[in-house]
Amino acid sequence: MLNDKECPLCGEKATTTHVEAETIGGELRYCDPPREVVNCDRCGDYAIESNLALNIQAGRKPRGEIDLLLPDGEGGEKKVKVKLHLLSGRTKTYWVQTDKRLPLTRECLLEQLGSAQVPKNPAQCADKLLLYVKLNSSRYGSVVALERKKDWPVAYAHDAEEFVHFSKHLAEARMIRDVGGTRNSEGRKVVLTMEGWKRTEELATAGPDSNQAFVAMASERDMEEVCWPVVRLALQDTGYDPLCVNWQEDNEKIDDYITAEIRRSALVIVDCTHHKQNVYYEAGFAHGLGRTVIPMCREDEFTAEKRQFDLMTYRHIVWDDANDLYAKLCNRIRGMGLDRKGGETVKPTKKRPGKT
Ligand SMILES: [Zn+2]
Repeated sequence: MLNDKECPLCGEKATTTHVEAETIGGELRYCDPPREVVNCDRCGDYAIESNLALNIQAGRKPRGEIDLLLPDGEGGEKKVKVKLHLLSGRTKTYWVQTDKRLPLTRECLLEQLGSAQVPKNPAQCADKLLLYVKLNSSRYGSVVALERKKDWPVAYAHDAEEFVHFSKHLAEARMIRDVGGTRNSEGRKVVLTMEGWKRTEELATAGPDSNQAFVAMASERDMEEVCWPVVRLALQDTGYDPLCVNWQEDNEKIDDYITAEIRRSALVIVDCTHHKQNVYYEAGFAHGLGRTVIPMCREDEFTAEKRQFDLMTYRHIVWDDANDLYAKLCNRIRGMGLDRKGGETVKPTKKRPGKT
């Protein structure tokens, strides 16, 4: 039985509501599988598959990793070590950025943890904390409270102690400044300095926190007419600035340009239809940089003979028409917790998106 008085992720006192059906866009839909809607001061509000919540609660060790059996993408299961503080980081940042609940599911959990949004080192954790201060600064000089016990997931910290180290680092690097007389054992009140504003601006225009999404696909007519307009719309609707260099004017240094733009992008969409070498190269380059790569392929081209080995381990979006592609891509981005706008799940309709 699930203890509905505590947060499955962090163990803090929380309220948990069991949900079997919900209304989306005026329509009642059953949740399959059922989920728990959790309201935790520390991890924010989020939704979690009931079974997953139960497994985590039963196996949770203080500040530790947990072994979970998760789908391996080939119909079986595999045992995976999951760091719970990173999940707290994902749910909290999604909640503060979008005001929407991140849905944690067994199917998407590994993608959610592997995405470029999850910091890979302490320097990136400090950047996350800085972005949080920026998010709460409506103007230069805004005072932002950082509470050590409640706010540590915004920096993807292991605990309150590590969170304090990150905030100290930002103060020493003169990115934030303590507001006099407000620092105590529970936290500190800070303002973002001009150096801090500059740094957040850099982060917003390059790397995993930028708004740019790079799109790689074959320069074929069907791609230009069907695939690209839909991918562009899906990315715009999830809060990204899409960039596809295929149909831009010729550039002599196109390779340098492409690799620079991939570096600047948070997300890379790779459509493998027509199986062009350069598309696979761009996917590999993005993967090597630690960017989140979402591979796709049109159904008729997604055959064992045509698929290339190096992308086989990824879960492809296999689409058959524009409408199908739009819904699947939006839902994948949302399922991974990468939607910058926190939109609702899209149900395929007969109408092609963007057309009447
Ligand atoms: Zn929590």
